[in-house]
Amino acid sequence: CGIFAYLNYDVSRERRYILEVLFNGLRRLEYRGYDSAGISIDSCSVAGPVQAPCDSPLVFRQEGNIESLVKSVYQEVSVTDLNLEESFSIHAGIAHTRWATHGEPSPRNSHPQSSGAGNDFLVVHNGVITNYEVLKQSLLRHGFTFESETDTEVIPKLAKFVFDKANEEGEQTVTFSEVVLEVMRHLEGAYALIFKSRHYPNELVACKRGSPLLLGVKEFAEQQNKGTSYNDLKFISTNGHPKELFLSSDPHALVEHTKKVLVIEDSEVVHIKDGGVTILKFEQGKGKDGKNISRPAS
Ligand code: GLU
Repeated sequence: CGIFAYLNYDVSRERRYILEVLFNGLRRLEYRGYDSAGISIDSCSVAGPVQAPCDSPLVFRQEGNIESLVKSVYQEVSVTDLNLEESFSIHAGIAHTRWATHGEPSPRNSHPQSSGAGNDFLVVHNGVITNYEVLKQSLLRHGFTFESETDTEVIPKLAKFVFDKANEEGEQTVTFSEVVLEVMRHLEGAYALIFKSRHYPNELVACKRGSPLLLGVKEFAEQQNKGTSYNDLKFISTNGHPKELFLSSDPHALVEHTKKVLVIEDSEVVHIKDGGVTILKFEQGKGKDGKNISRPAS
């Protein structure tokens, strides 16, 4: 029912802070109603450019309200001995409140949904994938096994299928947004999606069709504040200016962080990488050959 993501660049943030930003994002989505909630954060310290794939991201999912998710995450984090004071100069976290459409409310059916063991790809989803049965049958034939009854689970599994296939074919350079553009080619229905992957640490990709999605950016360089294009953000980052980025289905979850909010349009793909934001346009039939578009951030 609601999605939220947080990515910090060049700002050392403790694991505890990252968790709190994600939980607060979820609290802002609460008024819309939900039956379960979940988050994913990195398990390893992602202090700079790390070798992909990094350790499997951690996933916490719970039926019921956000405060019970918060409680169980802190319990689990202390049991697994994860250091809450550990700092991340770059960290990409994702979060979800679910209003079940396919599959009863349960931890298994909560999001993030996963590509399988190792959490190579994780997805939070608002909306409904109408052709998920067909996709599921085809993924089953390719050896994937499913844990949930959701329509969403086909999405991370498709991402893994596309990624593995590109690597088998020697396309070592397949980018995260290319994987997502290829996944979109197969999806029917309505969605706002945020992807996280251990193969692309420090990156997030989001896309939408028929469900709302917004990007928020905090801490611009002064001189870049007026009339800048979001595609110029790479330039800002290489100049060493710290910033934090947010994605959400709902402006309520963004306004406490920033007034710099960009409404993402249908068929757009947002790729956050190396401190830069690139917005690509998905065109059905073109597969991963997304068109790079640029527009002013007003
Ligand atoms: N259709 C998905 C599910 O049932 C997403 C529901 C939502 O938007 O929360 O898991």
